[in-house]
Amino acid sequence: MSRAISDQLPSFQFCPLNPQFKETYYKYLLELVKAGVDGFQIDELTFWEHGCGCGYCREQFFKDTGWQLPVNELDPRLGNTNSDLGKLWFDWRRKQIGNWFVELRRRAKEINPNLTLCMYTTHWGFTRSGPRYKEGTDLFELARAINYFGTEVMTRNVLQSSRPLVPFRKMKNALTTAFGTPVWGWIYASDWPTCYFAWAASNMVGQVALLPEDIDRPKNYGDFRTFDGSPDNMHRTRAQTVAPVALLFSAASRDWNSMTSFTGELFGIAQTLESMHVPYEFIAEMSLNEKQLAKYQVLVLASDGCLSDRDLAAIKTFARNGGTVYLSTVAGLCDEYGRLRKQWGFADVFGFTVNAAKTVKLARLSADAGGKDAVTPEKQLSAWTLTPAPATALLYGFTAQGQKLPLLVEKAYGKGKLFYQAASLGGAFCAPEVSPPKKWEFRIDEKLETLFRGELARIMAPGHYWTTDAPDQVFTAIWHDDDELLVHFLNATGANIKAGEEMVPTAPKVPYPPLAKDITFTLPGKYASAVAVSPDFEGRKPLELKENADGTTTVTLPKDLLKAYTIVRLK
Ligand SMILES: [Zn+2]
Repeated sequence: MSRAISDQLPSFQFCPLNPQFKETYYKYLLELVKAGVDGFQIDELTFWEHGCGCGYCREQFFKDTGWQLPVNELDPRLGNTNSDLGKLWFDWRRKQIGNWFVELRRRAKEINPNLTLCMYTTHWGFTRSGPRYKEGTDLFELARAINYFGTEVMTRNVLQSSRPLVPFRKMKNALTTAFGTPVWGWIYASDWPTCYFAWAASNMVGQVALLPEDIDRPKNYGDFRTFDGSPDNMHRTRAQTVAPVALLFSAASRDWNSMTSFTGELFGIAQTLESMHVPYEFIAEMSLNEKQLAKYQVLVLASDGCLSDRDLAAIKTFARNGGTVYLSTVAGLCDEYGRLRKQWGFADVFGFTVNAAKTVKLARLSADAGGKDAVTPEKQLSAWTLTPAPATALLYGFTAQGQKLPLLVEKAYGKGKLFYQAASLGGAFCAPEVSPPKKWEFRIDEKLETLFRGELARIMAPGHYWTTDAPDQVFTAIWHDDDELLVHFLNATGANIKAGEEMVPTAPKVPYPPLAKDITFTLPGKYASAVAVSPDFEGRKPLELKENADGTTTVTLPKDLLKAYTIVRLK
């Protein structure tokens, strides 16, 4: 049995590394593969919080690392993720679980080289460090063996929670980008309109939705299940995203960031980019290389505090080659184990350093050095201080005492440039995922949002692929599918939950309100035809195209052709 580290007593589970357990379990699984089983999802094969401190695990840990796991359960380093021993221990455990699945695949290969191994986490399980510390499992580690990833989506009201939901679904595609693995979403829905939304939100990010089958379709809704497999739908495994902006989901920052939230800044930026219709995707550290970065114009580091020397070099090469890099708060202050660097990782670029320990509270923000048209944030914002402070900036913060701080600094670098933002502005716009019966607490600070969106528009300019007047709450996504360009529109304007209201599982009274006006959008290139397709209407509806003198094309999607979800196919 596995032994608890806290008291050395046997626990309720087998030690996953125990050679006898492994041989017995592998043998059992391989018998099933021989019998024709196509794949497995082996749920929760992890260490759990208690372990494992058995003799075998201790010996292996020592062999692999040269470190001893203390037998004294009162040793303060045990369970302390800030100690070198704690970091090494947690890292070693998740590698062992990864190895466990690699070994299973290696053995099964002889019998069925196409065996499918599934594994999933909730959004929470992917973004928070807790699961790595407690259970010792990590999808990035498991990707060495897993070829079909998934998510249990816990919001229970996907339409009302659409603001955080869509970026969270896109986040999981970092696994697709890095490893080519498809992603599924196991979604809870209690009525047809939310089922439909869940399917559409998955479809538009190239994922498969697993949905309840016992919900009847009201007569006034088309059947997305028929549409799903029809030639009108996007070919999810063939299509390629159009996303000139990459957001770095740094697993090291998730696990070791200590000075500020990793998720707040990153997902606040993502949620704001959704409202602005800026096409983006998430990448992880393994995609930080010249070849993969070449497809992006803008790389967003947000508050990715923990970056390795290799990461830093790849990011700077991207900028030197002409890319735009946008970083904020603590990005690059620590190494990949969360240890404070002797010097900030971008000091050589900017000519100043970020003072890790020193933040000051801001009373107002303004793009004007004199504080003209300053915005007072509704919630407290803090800024990191810089030494030596640059004389000019694109945005300034002012303390209650009138001290002026540079908040956004731009620096040319090679053929590209970098932006550093000293406060977590994205963090102010991150709506968390909320399940019934909890209260929705998020509210948009509109004045600050206008300022932030202006800043983002400036930074994202090189990634400015298209323009559209679609409402903020209509989600959009653009994909290449064979020789066509597919533009997805998902109407989430029915999401009307206000701060202080309780989340309920059912869709709002009017789940898909009619749009007030037609949507127009302008894309680069010339197209021979455009049609709208949707589960909401039959057939392909031809759309009006207008060729512009600058080589772009403007398309109009009449408002009555977007009820819930519509794809515009351009050829
Ligand atoms: Zn053990």
